[in-house]
Amino acid sequence: MKVLVPVKRVVDYNVKVRVKSDGTGVDIANVKMSMNPFDEIAVEEAVRLKEKGVVTEVIAVSCGVAQCQETLRTAMAIGADRGILVETDAELQPLAIAKLLKALVDKEQPGLVILGKQAIDGDNNQTGQMLAALGDMPQATFASKVEVAGDKVTVSREVDGGLETLSLSTPAVITTDLRLNEPRYVTLPNIMKAKKKQLDTVKPEDLGVDVTPRLKTLKVAEPAKRGAGVKVADVAALVDKLKNEAKVI
Ligand code: AMP
Repeated sequence: MKVLVPVKRVVDYNVKVRVKSDGTGVDIANVKMSMNPFDEIAVEEAVRLKEKGVVTEVIAVSCGVAQCQETLRTAMAIGADRGILVETDAELQPLAIAKLLKALVDKEQPGLVILGKQAIDGDNNQTGQMLAALGDMPQATFASKVEVAGDKVTVSREVDGGLETLSLSTPAVITTDLRLNEPRYVTLPNIMKAKKKQLDTVKPEDLGVDVTPRLKTLKVAEPAKRGAGVKVADVAALVDKLKNEAKVI
């Protein structure tokens, strides 16, 4: 069984992003970029399934600018077998990405697609769900445990009330939550090995997908600055402030 793992190149989680002065977006010039953390968890899970012998090939895919190749090389250093870059300079929104992934699913016929539950830049939490709908595949989002047995996959998922267990038939879509695993440390020998792995590049047109954005960003603004906190003397003072200043009780 093949596993397809979509990996997104995003602003590194340690970077404090700044809004551009003209309010059209955030400034990502000269900012450190990394693999979306939830996607690292997805690659790790796919590689662990391969190490267990239930998966034969792990294919990482990234959609975006040429530099996404670096993200794919990182995925291959973790253990993905090959990479596919869907190269475009166009702004990509979740529906367009889901359509690109659907085209690759049709081509590669993976038994599982393991995505991150969300990308930490747009926080959309949409792509996996849209891909499942477009491909008419069962989905288990926010996975904290994945077990494959034959053509069935059992997934524990994190829901508001605790854990839910789903049994899905493959091909299926899974999205990862934080507790699924702890991605391995990428070693230098594996970084070197990853440079030699196969990386194919295709364009959205090759996959027959129109990626024109459907949504328009009107304005991006910094959140309002928060005032400094104060220490209260006792519970009565706290209750008084909550009632009369914050007016929340
Ligand atoms: P989102 O719906 O944008 O929060 O993204 C959810 C997941 O979809 C991510 O964790 C990735 O696995 C995948 N994804 C989103 N954008 C891309 C992209 N440009 N290239 C590859 N995978 C992506």
